[in-house]
Amino acid sequence: MTGDSWTGEDVIERDDLETGARIFVALHSSRLGPPTGGTRMKTYPDAGSARRDAMRLAEAMTYKWAAADFARGGGKAVIAVPPDLEASAREGLLRRYGRLLSELGGRFYTGGDVGTSSSDMDVIAETGTPYVFSRTPERGGAGGSGSWTALGVFAAIETACERLFGDPSPRDRRIVVQGVGNVGALLIERLAAAGARVAAADPNGEALGRLRERLGIEAIPSESGLEAPCDLLAPCALGGILNAETIPRLNTRAIVGAANDQLAGPEEALRLRERGVLYAPDFVVNAGGAVAITGIEALGWGADRAEAAVRGIAGTLRRVFDLAESSGVSTDAAARRLAEERLRRGTDPQADGR
Ligand code: NAD
Repeated sequence: MTGDSWTGEDVIERDDLETGARIFVALHSSRLGPPTGGTRMKTYPDAGSARRDAMRLAEAMTYKWAAADFARGGGKAVIAVPPDLEASAREGLLRRYGRLLSELGGRFYTGGDVGTSSSDMDVIAETGTPYVFSRTPERGGAGGSGSWTALGVFAAIETACERLFGDPSPRDRRIVVQGVGNVGALLIERLAAAGARVAAADPNGEALGRLRERLGIEAIPSESGLEAPCDLLAPCALGGILNAETIPRLNTRAIVGAANDQLAGPEEALRLRERGVLYAPDFVVNAGGAVAITGIEALGWGADRAEAAVRGIAGTLRRVFDLAESSGVSTDAAARRLAEERLRRGTDPQADGR
């Protein structure tokens, strides 16, 4: 997506004079429901790249909700902060942001993302704004989304195993996980419990060492995380990792992970197909956190209902693989086609996950 080709509805911008931060709330689509997406807080090289990031991520949310068949729209907020922002100034910024959400009056709902936590959502909610999800359980929220996202990735891995090996179980499959943060570590726990042979890469040697001790997984150097031989690679760290330079070096049968924006561009999906690597589109695989948290907090779901909805990612992914096969397109193109069909159908009051 470039700034010129963006098809979204609005971008609200606000300068926070007290801190020098700039806030961008990108509303991409309200076709299926109110735009809903995380608030990312980080330092950007300039305001233009922060704005573009918000727009790109909001568009990705439109596809994520539509592919998950969930009645929410695509939106995302970016708070571009100066590198030296102090904790006390940060809290004031979050409160002013909370008031901005109230001013928007439900045009945008948000939760945690890169650089923001459930505790930050508590601070935002203290302003009285009702448009915030993923507060801590102590404050009545559903907490962070990492465990739900990991569950969705696990269900997607089972689907990929079923497609490749005729058996959904990851038992005895060698699975390399890139990144052992919130999602990666919880995914590794599930994989280890299911009997997979797990290897993991992360520059954070401490976090990796703890997992190796606790679960007996293999630690591999972070620079070789992508090319290590395996049955299945689970990127759970960075975006843009699948590109013209890395794809020829891959040593895996499938890619199924949580990281957003894994493909450097749409042509990479074809490159993967030509190499015979089964790619599970990231926006289908990593929707579990968004679906569960929004379902629990906005629709009053219990944990069982949330788990069933997140496990539904397996069925969506099967449809994506089938459509890619029958139409001769990449799995990424097939997933986009399914999401666009859903967007064309418009609002369906029954649609709140499966
Ligand atoms: P996180 O920040 O907790 O963890 C990321 C981990 O990746 C860190 O441990 C970091 O050290 C590691 N890392 C950085 N560079 C690396 C490299 N070159 N090789 C290997 N590891 C590297 O993030 P998270 O919440 O676990 O999310 C992981 C990814 O999934 C991100 O791309 C995020 O946008 C995406 N995602 C997360 C959620 C969620 O619910 N948390 C939902 C959807 C998508």
